[in-house]
Amino acid sequence: ERERLARLRHTPAITLDGEQVELLANIELPQDAPAALQAGAVGVGLFRSEFLFMNREGELPGEDEQFEAYRAAVQAMQGLPVTIRTVDIGADKSLERLSLSELRHEHTLNPALGLRAIRWSLSEPSMFRMQLRAILRASVFGKVRLLIPMLAHAGEIRQTFEIIARAKQQLRDAGTPFLDVEVGAMIEVPAAALMIPLFLRYFDFVSVGTNDLIQYTLAIDRADESVSYLYDPWHPAVLRLIAGTIAEARGASKGVSVCGEMAGDPAFTPLLLAMGLRSFSMHPSQIASVKQRILRSDTSKLALHVAQTLGSDDPQASFRKLAGDAGQIH
Ligand code: PEP
Ligand code: MG
Repeated sequence: ERERLARLRHTPAITLDGEQVELLANIELPQDAPAALQAGAVGVGLFRSEFLFMNREGELPGEDEQFEAYRAAVQAMQGLPVTIRTVDIGADKSLERLSLSELRHEHTLNPALGLRAIRWSLSEPSMFRMQLRAILRASVFGKVRLLIPMLAHAGEIRQTFEIIARAKQQLRDAGTPFLDVEVGAMIEVPAAALMIPLFLRYFDFVSVGTNDLIQYTLAIDRADESVSYLYDPWHPAVLRLIAGTIAEARGASKGVSVCGEMAGDPAFTPLLLAMGLRSFSMHPSQIASVKQRILRSDTSKLALHVAQTLGSDDPQASFRKLAGDAGQIH
């Protein structure tokens, strides 16, 4: 079995009908990059940069420390793309263990609905600019892409681009080299999925964060055990938002990826392929099993069953029945 998986690592992810699929890794720290390569990832689809900020005693990482971490990840990936997401602090990833007086709003009633991710960054513009400078500086050492979490409002998008422009100007003024990087948006709030054309006008690519998209679509706190039985990735409302996002992005010729847990769960591989997804980002340990599913899938056959699956009140059973053979889902 181990030998088979090792062989799989060098096998390109191509479906039975010849569709090439990109399998990327989710990482939390630069030290995770070798495991991503080892697993056969063709890049990093999600570097959760907040892990540089968590579980620390004292100070948050400054610009140089962040830059070193981003550069380390980029260099470790040996020229493959590295998608660095700006901090997603708040909610389940709190800075509670830090006693930093300048960080406000730590204890709120509904942290998942509070000042987290891009909202936090926009409320701390100097820290946001510092992180952006650090990421931009790493761009001369490989292929860096920038990813912004939790956007929902047009105003947030505009503010974000203004701050990116400021960060670039600061680097130019200081004579610090950087390359132009692609900028992408996480689609993880239903509002963003519902107004995806707006995002596609502003951004070079989008990445669907299914963990939060499910949480916010179904009003289920992803960290609350008492309602975890209702946390259902197969819910037709969730599937419609994902399918719509993929279809619109493809229609606009913009890159679209899924980087939430669904991307790494082989149970969803055939359905995501059927929806047109060709880029998956996941924990490195999931790459082999997702690749196995891809190698056995026929996307042209699978795609025939999306509409009926989304229209069903039990999409899981419906898709298995309709697409069982084409996706080898038995
Ligand atoms: C997601 O929400 O699906 C996601 C990838 O981001 P995180 O799990 O870090 O919130
Ligand atoms: Mg998220």
